[in-house]
Amino acid sequence: MRIVSLLLALAMVVPAADIYYLLWFDTEDWVEPRSDDAAMRIALDLEKMGVRATFKVVGEKARVLEQRGRADVIRALSRHDIGYHAENHSIPPPPAMYMKHLGMLEGAQEFERREGQGVRDIERIFGVTPSCYGQPGSSWGPQSTIALRNLGVPMYVDEGTQVGFENQPFWFGGILHVFKLERFNMRAELEDESKIALATAKFDAAVTELEKRGGGAIHTYYHPTEFIATEFWDAVNYSHGRYTPPAEARSPNLRTKESSERAHRILLKFMEHVKSKPGVRIVTARQLMQIYASPVAPVDRVAARAQLRRSIDSMGPHSAADLLLAVLGMTPRYVDGPTQRKASQLAGSSIARELFERGKRDAIGYIDRHKRLPSHVWFGSQFLSLADLAATAAHDDGASAQVAVKRGELAFERRVASDPRAAFSWAIHPETFEAPELLELGRLQAWTLKPARLR
Ligand SMILES: [Zn+2]
Repeated sequence: MRIVSLLLALAMVVPAADIYYLLWFDTEDWVEPRSDDAAMRIALDLEKMGVRATFKVVGEKARVLEQRGRADVIRALSRHDIGYHAENHSIPPPPAMYMKHLGMLEGAQEFERREGQGVRDIERIFGVTPSCYGQPGSSWGPQSTIALRNLGVPMYVDEGTQVGFENQPFWFGGILHVFKLERFNMRAELEDESKIALATAKFDAAVTELEKRGGGAIHTYYHPTEFIATEFWDAVNYSHGRYTPPAEARSPNLRTKESSERAHRILLKFMEHVKSKPGVRIVTARQLMQIYASPVAPVDRVAARAQLRRSIDSMGPHSAADLLLAVLGMTPRYVDGPTQRKASQLAGSSIARELFERGKRDAIGYIDRHKRLPSHVWFGSQFLSLADLAATAAHDDGASAQVAVKRGELAFERRVASDPRAAFSWAIHPETFEAPELLELGRLQAWTLKPARLR
């Protein structure tokens, strides 16, 4: 009895933090058949350990598995979670290359046209809608979020630098992102067994940090092809924008049997450590979707006004868009960011009350109809930028005959990468490739950015 109450007391002193660990594999090498076996072996080994991973499969890889008659591989992977990793991965043009020339809506349509077939093929071959998507390499574009929603893929799982929120899961473009985890992105190096201790120590430190924060997520990713090859299958065939006809694609250099065995051993040893760690729950992407709370939540209007007067930023679990909707008196809902940036075109420093209220109703009508924030809002023959509308509405007392115009600063834009070359650096993009256009669209869409909260 005494032991029981002591244990209960301990349980109360040390609240169990919810720490979730996601292991995913970019399953993409359709050139070298041995990578099929590597994927199957990983899936079966992990299943034996009681670990469920997430295999993000490339559309072409799924079709090739089918053509090679690898029902055994498809079955083994199906007992884990299945995500999506682009239609063709590295055959030019990859997503950032074609999306950089398109705006938000046209880019979303084009992403859906080019990448949609892989989603349908995965549904047919694996029998499930992919739980998540992740870009090939650094080939990111914010238009993908709109397209993924249309395709029924609710989550973005990857490790990139383009957008993030304090190295933990976040909402962006209406999609739950596990992205830019940085120090919470773990990896045991596959070359050297003696370095497992380094990886497990780093993992333990990440768990300790998240315990202090009250919980969070850690992830690890590999590619099945890494377990059999010493170089990437696509770097061999599609480096820096080069096109190789699929029939002429060359296999990557392979690992020796010994080196391959070592790689598999290291993965399992690392996973034994993760599995044995108290307080850590290994989950799939599909499970994480249930673990994080709905992004739509009531917003306190007074607090929203105060935040937008200070700076246009997210506040707690709310995005800047959530706050703006509250200030405009709209019910909470998800809406996209604006499609372009406009500077205010307004002479004078105030707007007459009647005209201001009319413009506000117009803004509400636009948001209701398009499910998107407007880039600018008309007041007679002049308009305010969205940022200035937010600042002006937040400062407005609702009664004065003239509404003073305020200038808005978009503080949330700091969370989007600013170096258009570094953010898209990848062996498959042309060496001089940069996409400032996509980072700009990312900044516009960051009106929707906010941290994800555990349920
Ligand atoms: Zn990949």
